[in-house]
Amino acid sequence: ALALDGLSLLDFLRREHIDAELFGLLDAYCLSALGAPTAEISAYAGVNFLSEINAPIYAFPGGNGAIARAMAARLSRAGEGRIVTGAAVYAIEPAEGGYARVGWFDAQHPGEPRCLEARWAVVAAPYFFAGRILRGIDPAATARMTGLRQGSYLVANCCFEGTPQELPYDSWALGAQSFSDAISATAILPAAERPKDHGVLTVYAPFHDPGAGRTRLLTEDRAAFAAPIVEELRRFMPEAFGGARLAEVRLTRWGHHHLIAAPGIVTTMRALPKRFGNVLLTHSDGQGMPAVESAIVEARNAVEIIKRG
Ligand SMILES: Cc1cc2nc3c(=O)[nH]c(=O)nc-3n(C[C@H](O)[C@H](O)[C@H](O)COP(=O)(O)OP(=O)(O)OC[C@H]3O[C@@H](n4cnc5c(N)ncnc54)[C@H](O)[C@@H]3O)c2cc1C
Repeated sequence: ALALDGLSLLDFLRREHIDAELFGLLDAYCLSALGAPTAEISAYAGVNFLSEINAPIYAFPGGNGAIARAMAARLSRAGEGRIVTGAAVYAIEPAEGGYARVGWFDAQHPGEPRCLEARWAVVAAPYFFAGRILRGIDPAATARMTGLRQGSYLVANCCFEGTPQELPYDSWALGAQSFSDAISATAILPAAERPKDHGVLTVYAPFHDPGAGRTRLLTEDRAAFAAPIVEELRRFMPEAFGGARLAEVRLTRWGHHHLIAAPGIVTTMRALPKRFGNVLLTHSDGQGMPAVESAIVEARNAVEIIKRG
């Protein structure tokens, strides 16, 4: 794995004599799924992700948010009111006597900072951000965290009314300027369970230059983003419109959408400490690959550490 990790995916594809005709599609895939084209992605991460093409598709109703909702429901079974939402953590540090200290504020009252101490603090925020809020630890470690690259991304959920068309799970629009691919939200449902009078197409629009993308996401208005996506959707995927009417486009901005799994990412993440006293880092970044299974592995590792005490 580490030998592959040191190579770019593009070098690996060339080494394996993969037909160069496929490189355009593979670049689009990597930009959409991993945040950068094949030349900027670890071959290990790329091969890991590409293996999904031959694997079954697992999707939750409404997407990965279903996992967070299930976890929240489970926590609530142990007693209501245990989760504080709408809160921002601005500082975390190992504290005296085996405790951890957390500084946070309610987003509605940002002028009223609060502090709490706990036996453990599990930091599930991305590393580039954790590196900015961790206090009292080796600055070399936080510098490596904040040095990780993050992509930027726009997601457009296109809501159709009327008879939805039969579409593949994921369709690629090679040559389109405003988006890379589109997932039919209901494609994996058995035909009998698919809605008959509406459908959703989730359109993925990663930015090639993450910094420029962030600036655009902060400054441009929604209509300016939606219009070229809809225009190119009509051109590249006219079948999506078949007997249906596009009723609404819901946009979501991802300023720092996830870690870019650059060559050497596994080596980099292995070398980073994940425990500082009783403060544990558990974001999926810890596995070097932006996927829900990475989040689950990191969470399980943290549970083991806490259980050992
Ligand atoms: C558009 C998009 C599509 C994706 N599609 C897939 C997919 O199909 N399959 C897949 O496996 N993965 C997908 N991913 C990758 C996805 O990031 C991971 O699968 C998963 O969300 C990682 O979970 P996580 O818990 O590690 O981190 P995250 O989901 O990144 O959660 C981190 C949380 O920390 C919170 N946070 C950060 N800083 C603070 C702070 N200071 N105070 C309080 N809270 C804070 C954030 O608000 C966030 O809720 C996608 C990502 C994006 C952006």
